[in-house]
Order: sequence, then C-alpha cells, then structure tokens
Amino acid sequence: MQNAHAKWLWSSCQSCPTCKVQYTNCPNQENSGRSVPGTFQCEKYLVSPADFVSPIPETLTPETVAPLLCSGLILYGALNKLDTKCNKGNWVVPHHGCIQIGREMGYRIIASGAEAFIDLQDDPTIKIQALTDSIGAHAVIVVVGLEKAYEQSVTFLRPVGTLVCMGLPQPDYHLPISPLVCVDRGYRMVGSAVDTEAEMQALLGLAAEWKVVTHMRMIEPAEVNEVAGPLRRFAVEGRAVLRIPV
Ligand SMILES: [Zn+2]
Repeated sequence: MQNAHAKWLWSSCQSCPTCKVQYTNCPNQENSGRSVPGTFQCEKYLVSPADFVSPIPETLTPETVAPLLCSGLILYGALNKLDTKCNKGNWVVPHHGCIQIGREMGYRIIASGAEAFIDLQDDPTIKIQALTDSIGAHAVIVVVGLEKAYEQSVTFLRPVGTLVCMGLPQPDYHLPISPLVCVDRGYRMVGSAVDTEAEMQALLGLAAEWKVVTHMRMIEPAEVNEVAGPLRRFAVEGRAVLRIPV
C-alpha cells in the first residue's frame, strides 16, 4: 500500500491557457477545505483526483510529512522561484522560515537560526546593509501575512532584487512601493502560492534524506482551540499537526 496525501490544490482544469504555463495558478482550480471538503474532517476516507495527490516516501511518517505538504511546499516553491534570478551564495531574507530549504538550495539566509541573524525589531535595514556590502539582499521572501513585513521587505532589497510575496495581509492592502522606485531600482516581484508536484517530490526527497526536518507538535482535536490563538499570532514554534481519530 502506498501512502499518499491530498494538498490545498485539489485539482486544476489542465486545459486553460494558465494551466499550460503554470497549472498551480489555474483560475478554475479546486482547493481542499475551500471549494471541496478538506482534510479537517473526521471521515475515514478522503476522495481526491489521483493526478493531484502526492505519494509519500515509506520512510517518512504522516505527521512529519503533513507540514511539508502545505507550508513546506509553499516555502520550497517561493525559494525555487528565485532559480532564474539568484545564484548560489546570494543573500536571501525570508520573513520567517525557509532556512533549511534555502540552505539546501545554496543561498545564504539571513534569519534566526541561519548563517546570519538580524532582529527585525532593531534597525534591520541597517544591519542587512552591513551584511551585504551596503547594497542589500538579492531576494526577500515575505512569508507572514503582516503589513509590517511588506513595509520592511522593500527596504532590504538591493537593485535588481526580487521580492517574493507569499504572506497574505488584509485583501485591500497594497505593496508600499511606487512604480518610480521599481523602475529606478529594477525590482522584480513574484507571487507564490501553491507549487507543483515536481517541487513537492523534491522537498519530500530532502526530508527522506534528513536534509529538511519538520519541527512540529501533534495535537488532539480537543486541543484545537488552545492552539488556534497562538497560530493566529504567529506564536507557534514550527507547526501544529492535528491527529484525526480513526
Ligand atoms: Zn486551468
């Protein structure tokens, strides 16, 4: 028997012009837990199109894989979007997460627990300039959905740097940057949501080789409300994985 898992991208139409370029942005896509029943349900079986489930390596347990199927894949995809814009050894500032995967991709990461660390509450722009020969980072990935993170991110970038948008503040929030600054400095901006099955399998491969290790805590259904508050405040270390009773 092969373990497999459904993800946020439950299906895409595979026939529209967007699917031919990047099916993860298909406007006709279905999403687990949004347009079709998701995994947060106490059912014994989950039905999903076979083309969109991810086979799980035998050596990995479901609870360690669960965070990789969502946030892990999103982080991997965001870093992977830099492959034509950054080189190994370039400085990347993730506003949260990305350290293990970024290191495996050869980037120099500025974050807590990485090669270099700055306190985002304490003149981070000056400190990033000091780390990067006074020019700024090659790329910034905004993972958290905080407006403050986006405001800081554009001050971290060097000319021709890349900003990857992932975190989602309120829908009416707009990036704090003018077209003039974009033109003068040649910034590139990329949006990153869910990513491809090839990227999923590459990430699971890193996990199977222990190059990416999940930091997570298993919780029972009775603990959901207790954990929900810290999750909303981005105060949970690693991931909280819900055990579905069977
Ligand atoms: Zn499509």
